[in-house]
Amino acid sequence: MSRILALCIALWAVAVPPVWAQEFSGLARIDADDSSVTDAGREDVQIDLGLSQGIPYRLFMLDGPPRLVLDFQEVDWTGLQADDLDRSERVLQAQFGAYVPGWSRMVLELVAPMKVETAALDIDEVTGGAHLSVSLVPETPELFAANAGAPYDPRWDLPEPALIKRPVARGDEAPLVVVLDPGHGGIDPGAEQGEIAEKDMMLTFARELRELLLRSDGFEVVLTRDTDNFVSLERRVSLAYQAGAGVFISIHADSLSEGLAHGATVYVLSRDASDVASAKLAERHDREELLSGMDLSGTDDEVTGVLLDLARQETQPRTEALAKALVGGMTNTGGPMNRRPMRSAAFSVLKAADIPSVLIEIGFLSSPRDFKNLQNPEWRAAIAQGIRNGLQNWREADAAKRPLIRQ
Ligand SMILES: [Zn+2]
Repeated sequence: MSRILALCIALWAVAVPPVWAQEFSGLARIDADDSSVTDAGREDVQIDLGLSQGIPYRLFMLDGPPRLVLDFQEVDWTGLQADDLDRSERVLQAQFGAYVPGWSRMVLELVAPMKVETAALDIDEVTGGAHLSVSLVPETPELFAANAGAPYDPRWDLPEPALIKRPVARGDEAPLVVVLDPGHGGIDPGAEQGEIAEKDMMLTFARELRELLLRSDGFEVVLTRDTDNFVSLERRVSLAYQAGAGVFISIHADSLSEGLAHGATVYVLSRDASDVASAKLAERHDREELLSGMDLSGTDDEVTGVLLDLARQETQPRTEALAKALVGGMTNTGGPMNRRPMRSAAFSVLKAADIPSVLIEIGFLSSPRDFKNLQNPEWRAAIAQGIRNGLQNWREADAAKRPLIRQ
């Protein structure tokens, strides 16, 4: 036990042979041909990763679902495909990519609880190349649960979400602070269609929308991420508070096989989803968060939940008016809109209690028509204008209602 624990929390700093030092860029590259996740023996799993140089790494297990998390100093994953890497029947899914700046992460979702039997990083003294070999063996669910959890280390972990404070009260003349939240990022690619990942597409669109809003009067814009990095759902909400957001807009273009998923759709938060497809979409976003190696154990707090629900009831009419205004704006600039353009589900990213928050699927990557539109800068510009017009209309209507609410 103690040996395994020590293995799990230790950090290996590996010196690079000095003769090669000048040739290293500092960024380790993955060698796809030398990397695999395979079944070994009757019950074990063998993980092999080829790297262009030795780098510090750590590994630990997370529960619910059982996952192995491998953190590395930044790795360039170019050339590695999850499907080619994972050849094991005992590993459901492999995911890897950027985590926090300077650090990379790989997460393997396991069929059943396992533990690290051995882990070793070998450096080739001649080439400087490195090989990480990890073997996993079955573990009882009880012991697995007892030992699972992310060790805290400020060098590796996401910053703690900031203390939640209420948005700063502003006069009606003050610019509207719009927090744009490009979906997914880093280790979490979101939906994928061929070479195109939702995370990249949404970052591009968020930047375009930011430019348009800044060129229009009366907006301040903050992005929850402006790079290809992972940002937890909780942190996205906390960033909105930090920015003093007047409005929070999460932007997505997911794949959805259920129902007729095409056309722009605006989602608002609701415990009860408006339809099965919306519920699946919200569940999938939470699941993608888990597969990115988030430790969500013990985050449910029913009392806090009830208090937040009360605050949300007050925000709800403003949120719904915002959603309607956005649907109206996008419809006027050409859509195309979903046949039911306003829907609801329990999206974790929309849980800010007193900031009107919506999630826009500007299209669906799974729809051939939307996929084509999403890659067309002119179409994106029209959708961005629709969102801008919607925000302007909502701001006016909201300001007109304000004095009534305050009395
Ligand atoms: Zn998405």
